[in-house]
Amino acid sequence: MDTYIKDWHNIILNCSFDNTYKMVWAKSLVELAVNSQEKNDKVTFNFREISELCLKYYWNQTIYFNLIQGSNIKKPPEILTYVKELIGDYITKTGKTQPIRFEKLNLTALELESKYEKVINKISNTLKSDVCWRFKNLAGITYELYDLDRDKKTVTFNKEDILNIKEQSDFLFSFINYKWTQMLESFNFSPKISQKVRGIDEGKVKRSPLKKYHEYLDLMCSNGKRICFYCNKEINETDLSIDHVIPWSFMFSDDIWNLVYCHKNENSEKSNRLPSENDINRLEERNIRLMKLMENSDFHKNKNFDQLQLANEKNYVRSFWISCKY
Ligand SMILES: [Zn+2]
Repeated sequence: MDTYIKDWHNIILNCSFDNTYKMVWAKSLVELAVNSQEKNDKVTFNFREISELCLKYYWNQTIYFNLIQGSNIKKPPEILTYVKELIGDYITKTGKTQPIRFEKLNLTALELESKYEKVINKISNTLKSDVCWRFKNLAGITYELYDLDRDKKTVTFNKEDILNIKEQSDFLFSFINYKWTQMLESFNFSPKISQKVRGIDEGKVKRSPLKKYHEYLDLMCSNGKRICFYCNKEINETDLSIDHVIPWSFMFSDDIWNLVYCHKNENSEKSNRLPSENDINRLEERNIRLMKLMENSDFHKNKNFDQLQLANEKNYVRSFWISCKY
């Protein structure tokens, strides 16, 4: 590996764990390098285009999984706060709580352009004051990865360095993701962090149909009627929905011990809100009853039965609930 890429490697490997700014900065630069055309000896990117990519990365990680990006829980990194403001505006405007990838947003149609501009400006200011120069410094040494003009808000690379980054971009992207994942694992209590990061990167965050769980949940029917977990009333076929009591965005998986029947409208109202302690108590009781019902059915040799049993023995409901409250 040549020394220039080794310097990138060194910086990413050894940078501090306060927040993920350096990762989002590095990833944005690599993405810009990959898409750049080198017409001159120097290639310059402005902070605006870097900020747009930072926004994209943070938007996607936040709207799907609400990942914590810094070590100080009481004071989240300011860039993330700006991104969350825009997500809030999006939700207010559309009334939709279903996540959407940043790449699919139509800012013009949503009349969010001016808010977007403000967020981009604020991100760009944080990059200027905090991130752009810090990234190059490690343990008192400045690595000459690029030239900065902080007044003009630009980053300039030598052409050969850009070509180098392009050639090594697969390595750099996966190494940055690896380090980013490590950081997220130290800030977040949620499971499957690396799958979440990879899933978002590859655009493979999909919910799978939950219909296959009907046969288990139907064991709980009373007099042939499906009962809503939240309001205890009967649910008609057309109004039937399955809910993740501990949000899917936290678990990133469908687990029988976390799935209940509820009315469609209650499900969409609830979206990613946290369950109450009462819900958790009732889910634990439900799981014990469901386990007994499955034990006495044809499902007792089924892997869902094994999972439910394990969840009951290991108190999954309570431990995941406690960790998702952070
Ligand atoms: Zn209900």
